[in-house]
Parts: sequence; structure tokens; C-alpha cells
Amino acid sequence: MLNIILCGAPGSGKGTQSAFIANKYGVQHLSTGDVLRAEIATGSELGKQIDALISKGNLVPDDMMYGVIENYIANLPADCKGTIFDGYPRTVAQAESLTKLLKKYNMDAIMIDLLVDEQLLIQRLIERGKVSGRADDNLNTIRHRIAVYHQQTEPIAHYYLHHGNYCAVNGNHNMADVFLQIMRIIDSYGR
Ligand code: ADP
Repeated sequence: MLNIILCGAPGSGKGTQSAFIANKYGVQHLSTGDVLRAEIATGSELGKQIDALISKGNLVPDDMMYGVIENYIANLPADCKGTIFDGYPRTVAQAESLTKLLKKYNMDAIMIDLLVDEQLLIQRLIERGKVSGRADDNLNTIRHRIAVYHQQTEPIAHYYLHHGNYCAVNGNHNMADVFLQIMRIIDSYGR
């Protein structure tokens, strides 16, 4: 089972690289951002609460996210080759929960951290905003999301460094070069 936790700031290329990895290694792609946007699209009460947080660039509470992940892992198909966790964990508390959940099902994961310079992140997100139609892809919200990333998400790098499954990737390069670095890491794990 190949489980990959793909981390990085907004605009670091997690979604793009997740698609490449899923395609090459036959693993499932779980994007928590997509799951949350799908809930918003239903127009439910919960979706409205989520929308109010996401559109301002804030995180959804840990307990709400835990429900999503627990439900996903409990319902994995028997022939599942593994998962790319794209956008989860985003806090140290989420990282701790995920470690426990994976352990419960006798699984582990490699953490791949996509490191990208801030100027490039902003440039990419502004470009994406022109076509994505996402309420959070505008300059003010982008700056806030990057600040939230530094405060709440970046500390998980230390968590995974201590747990011995941390791998950093230079995400400033083009998509193909970044994917080459990721493949080297995955293949070095011998799966
Ligand atoms: P990006 O990585 O570009 O910010 P995502 O689609 O991964 O885009 O996430 C969009 C938004 O969804 C986040 O800014 C946050 O509000 C919410 N979100 C996604 N994953 C999580 C999570 N694990 N915990 C809390 N909020 C999350």
C-alpha cells in the first residue's frame, strides 16, 4: 500500500502532482479541498458554514475534517493500492489524528513537502484565479491563506521530521521536473 501525504502551501502544485502520481502509481487521490467544495455545491447548511470559512481563507475545524478522513479510510475498497492525501493534514492535530488512523488500519505514509518561494506561489494563484472561479483565489485571500499556512500548516514538517518519514521537494521547477523528484522519492521506497 502506497500512501502519500502531499503537503505544501496554497499554489505549491499539490493538485497537479497528485494527478500525476495517481495516474502513474494507480493510487486514489483524496483532495480535502475538493470534498469541501462538493459539500458547498450541495447547498446544505453544513456547506454554507464551510463556505463562510473557505472563502475567507480560513481552515475548517479539525473535528469536521476528522469525520471526512475517518469515513474515507473506513470505506477504502479492498483492492485499493494506496492514497494521496492532498490537503490533509493541515495542522499538527490533524497529523496526529492521521497517524493514529493509519496505524489502526496497519498502514503508514510518506510525507512529501512541496517547497515553493512565496512570490511564485502568489503569482501562480493569481493566474489560477483568472480561470478557477474559486472565491479564495484573490490577492487578499491568497495572502491570508499563505499566512494561515505559515502559522498552522508549516509546523507539521517538524512533526514528520521527528517521525522519520519526511521528504522535501523543490517545487519551484516546472511540473515535469517536480514530478521527477517525486518519482525518485516514491521509487526509493521500493514500492
Ligand atoms: P489550496 O491548497 O490551494 O489552499 P485546497 O483546495 O487544498 O486549496 O483547500 C481550499 C480550502 O479548503 C483551504 O483554504 C481550507 O479553507 C479548506 N481545507 C482544505 N483542507 C483542509 C483541512 N485539512 N483542514 C482544514 N481546512 C481545509
